[in-house]
Amino acid sequence: MLRIPRRMPEMPAVPVMPATLVIAAALFFAVGCTDGTQQETDAVHSPATAPATALDVSLIAAYADSVCTYCTQWNVPQEPFLLHGSTYYVGTRGLSAILVTSDDGHILIDAALPNSAPLILDNIRALGFEPADVALILNSHAHFDHAGGIAAVAAATGARVAATSWSAEALERGNTDEADPQYPEHLDFPAVADVERFTAGDTLRVGSLALASHATAGHTPGGTSWSWESCDNVGCVEIVYADSQTPVSADGFKYIDSSSYPNGIRDFESGLATLEALRCDILVSTHPEASGLWERHAARDSDRDGFVEAGACAAYAAAGRERLARRIAQEMGGDNQ
Ligand SMILES: [Zn+2]
Repeated sequence: MLRIPRRMPEMPAVPVMPATLVIAAALFFAVGCTDGTQQETDAVHSPATAPATALDVSLIAAYADSVCTYCTQWNVPQEPFLLHGSTYYVGTRGLSAILVTSDDGHILIDAALPNSAPLILDNIRALGFEPADVALILNSHAHFDHAGGIAAVAAATGARVAATSWSAEALERGNTDEADPQYPEHLDFPAVADVERFTAGDTLRVGSLALASHATAGHTPGGTSWSWESCDNVGCVEIVYADSQTPVSADGFKYIDSSSYPNGIRDFESGLATLEALRCDILVSTHPEASGLWERHAARDSDRDGFVEAGACAAYAAAGRERLARRIAQEMGGDNQ
């Protein structure tokens, strides 16, 4: 059974995708852009030859609009594109998914909603890669809008899935537990079988790829951000995929006085300090607009380094810190919203 949230879980004071962005997205597709051309020049790999794997329809069911007001907007298809080197954006318009590729196999971070899985797999194929070459799937946090598609993508690719212990249990359960500030208002998602455990701080490897994990909890107790070096024929940059830094909760939960998640504030502060200190040339966040991805995507039409933004992680952390301070002040004043 799907649980029905009284409101969407990650909504800040302003809508995640304001109408202007929806219009911008519509215009984006209506007038076309250089994305397709860019994609052809970016992807130098042979076209995929393997037949598409039939997807288990039970794993890719869409949430009804009545239970997920924003899912349709989040799941607007997005052409995949190169971020840098061998790292690509393969997510939807509203929810990030990142493909880090190598000759020895690929790593996918996040898989958005259950019904995003076919879009992500199509994006991987459109770039000329084989879904079957995805060897490892990682996650930012175990909520339906970032982990919902993992079960379907894992089944279609045969990839391993790995997460820190709290997130791994949530992925295997298909929902979080009472330590999640948003519990029980979050939607169930297809459970993932056999999730491997690692410890935050570990580096996850596939062939030559090495992705460092960073504990950035608070939004959930298992929140994880990722960083890795990306090189092309011009030079190397550090890419950071940052988890959500939004202190939102179910009614009644207080970060300042929670017995189910007593370390919430400390986890946020630790994670924000980590994000601030990371080498960070290119930042992508779980919700792409939260790190200005679409503005930088447009900038790259005229500047090959358009995704690079000095101080992006520090600014992202500062915004998270402001939200946390506001939230704590509200709770101290007797209001948890
Ligand atoms: Zn979330």
